[in-house]
Amino acid sequence: MINANNPSLKSWIEVSSESDFPIQNIPFGIFKLGTNSDGRVGTRIGDKVIDLSVVAELGFFAELNIDISVFFDSSLNGFIGLGKDVTRAVRERISELFQDGNSEVKNSDELNRIVLDVDQVEMLLPVEIGDYTDFYSSEQHAYNVGCMFRDPNNALLPNWKHIPVGYHGRASSIVVSGTPLHRPKGQQKPNDDEPPVFGPCKLLDFELEMAFIVGKSTELGDSVTTADAEDHIFGVCVFNDWSARDIQKWEYVPLGPFLAKNFGSSVSPWVVTLDALEPFKVAGSKQDPKVLPYLEFEGDKNYNINLDVIIETAEGQSKQVTRSNFKYMYWNMCQQLAHHTANGCNINVGDIMASGTISGPEEGEYGSMLEISWRGTKPVPMPDGTERKFIHDGDSVVMRGFGEANGIRLGFGEVRTKVLPAKG
Ligand code: MN
Repeated sequence: MINANNPSLKSWIEVSSESDFPIQNIPFGIFKLGTNSDGRVGTRIGDKVIDLSVVAELGFFAELNIDISVFFDSSLNGFIGLGKDVTRAVRERISELFQDGNSEVKNSDELNRIVLDVDQVEMLLPVEIGDYTDFYSSEQHAYNVGCMFRDPNNALLPNWKHIPVGYHGRASSIVVSGTPLHRPKGQQKPNDDEPPVFGPCKLLDFELEMAFIVGKSTELGDSVTTADAEDHIFGVCVFNDWSARDIQKWEYVPLGPFLAKNFGSSVSPWVVTLDALEPFKVAGSKQDPKVLPYLEFEGDKNYNINLDVIIETAEGQSKQVTRSNFKYMYWNMCQQLAHHTANGCNINVGDIMASGTISGPEEGEYGSMLEISWRGTKPVPMPDGTERKFIHDGDSVVMRGFGEANGIRLGFGEVRTKVLPAKG
């Protein structure tokens, strides 16, 4: 076992039993302190953010013999680019410094520069994202959408169980949790017998997804095998792939998602490493028909992570509308990456690859309003007496992810996005 994952470890920083950030987590993120400062690299334990640039500057990483300038960067790309041997050693060293019984940092004169209250800092986008890909890897989601738009008897297209279907998204509009988004405008065709119209999207939706961050680049022409894939995945975040269903419906044939998707996607700020997620691994569902050899894999590659979606009204009344789970993925991340690079497509550190909407088999486990309200036919009652078929202006959508294993709760925190009215 990786030492930092040892469930018996405790930190000298207080961690409540409800926290997503026990000492076994040690995620990485970019934060800034005050309006004038630049972003730098931090980690989190309980409700404390730890400034790793100060930890490094004070020499606590000296024995690792690494270029500590990466901790002063405003993205994780430099740090991640040091490679998994190094980032793993840093995580292990942080675990050592902050566990009960170790007073190296605890007794430091600079403790107040190292350990910050989470309320003191602003979290920024964790990586500089070169490219973003979104998959479509939850069978229940693909089935539900197929039922609604085609036919329950042929809900899955013939390629779906052979290919981890995906599309290339837009990296420029990915924002970190807390960044509000304006309702998109676009072309829609609400009435089959009339010409299209232009205006604010009326069917604004979320998509509950997880996203992995590429940790190791490849050369053009190279392919990553499923066996090597984990070496190329640094960590995972919760991801909301905002979707404009009315724009999507009119535009998506023949080339797929475009303006219905690229107006914004929201990502949680803390990247939880694949190492930290190791105890949450579970088997996925059996893949039948048998996949082609380049998509075969060994071992458990799914993760038992509960995923919640909450809608909060402008007045602050909230309702949980979904509890799904990352384990419901039909195609796992290793298969997605193997498929993405099978043709020689190169990948770069900081690229984001999102899972696709993750829906479970039961009602109550669906990952989008499209499915929850079944195209608007089953509105969701809200505590204030209103109802939701899709997302209203002023609503905030909050997604959270956490798992429990060996008595340890470990999670991702949240990705929260408020919807503002369309601009202009
Ligand atoms: Mn999506």
